[in-house]
Amino acid sequence: MMPDSQFRTTTRHMLRESKTYASQTLMGGLSGFESPIGLDRRDRIAALKSGDIGFVHSWDINTSVDGPGTRMTVFMSGCPLRCQYCQNPDTWKMRDGKPVYLDAMIKKVDRYKDLFKATHGGITFSGGESMMQPAFVSRVFHAAKEMGVHTCLDTSGFLNTNYTDEMLDDIDLCLLDVKSGDEQTYHEVTGGLLQPTIDFGQRLAKAGKKIWVRFVLVPGLTDSEENVENVARICESFGDAVEHIDVLGFHQLGRPKWHELRIPYPLENQKGPNAATRERVANQFKDHGFTVY
Ligand code: SF4
Repeated sequence: MMPDSQFRTTTRHMLRESKTYASQTLMGGLSGFESPIGLDRRDRIAALKSGDIGFVHSWDINTSVDGPGTRMTVFMSGCPLRCQYCQNPDTWKMRDGKPVYLDAMIKKVDRYKDLFKATHGGITFSGGESMMQPAFVSRVFHAAKEMGVHTCLDTSGFLNTNYTDEMLDDIDLCLLDVKSGDEQTYHEVTGGLLQPTIDFGQRLAKAGKKIWVRFVLVPGLTDSEENVENVARICESFGDAVEHIDVLGFHQLGRPKWHELRIPYPLENQKGPNAATRERVANQFKDHGFTVY
């Protein structure tokens, strides 16, 4: 687990670093959670399945980053994808997270609920991949909704089938990564399949949920006009659910982690998009009628 002092550089998405949003960290790491030490392996697996515990990388309180208002963002451990531009390869393995009791997480939401209501904020689950532990996440969301707290799921949608329609009920907003517009590019970027993301976005739309799409712009990888057009068409298939699209320029803030973990880093010399490319891509989405940040 990384020291808290490094915490703010470990968010998996690039919004924090690539946008000029005001952001304030009040705390972070895994402070305040009792860990269920002593459970044997079989009990841990059963508790994970039921959602009685979740494996958590870290959490923080922030403003206007992972959804509206002041939010508690919980970074879950474990991810089935291997994105070339991942900022947090240290979240890939669930076993590297710390087990946290469901009740402890719900108490934490309860503690901040007045702050969330006053700022129109709430709780966001991120990762890693938040849908890798659907029982834990959905039970916390259900408790949050009972307290009147806004809920936001930050996900690639790759594990679409992990989330039941009933679980969708307790999501107010989804930050959905549409990492590329065709299967081949998506696979090159992530090692996974695109179709589950499309399916998940369409399910959210059908259920009347709101979506903020996130698209990471990497020169030579995701920036072709054709790829961007395909991403725009996928977003169109979500209809009115899409409130805006965040176009996030690639940057190198995640590079030290790949080095620390001794994982070969495919974007070692990537410099990120220039202003002209950013503008062209933003205009492509705007031409499809989307608001772009
Ligand atoms: S979805 Fe991609 S960027 Fe996000 S944690 Fe997994 S590998 Fe990293």
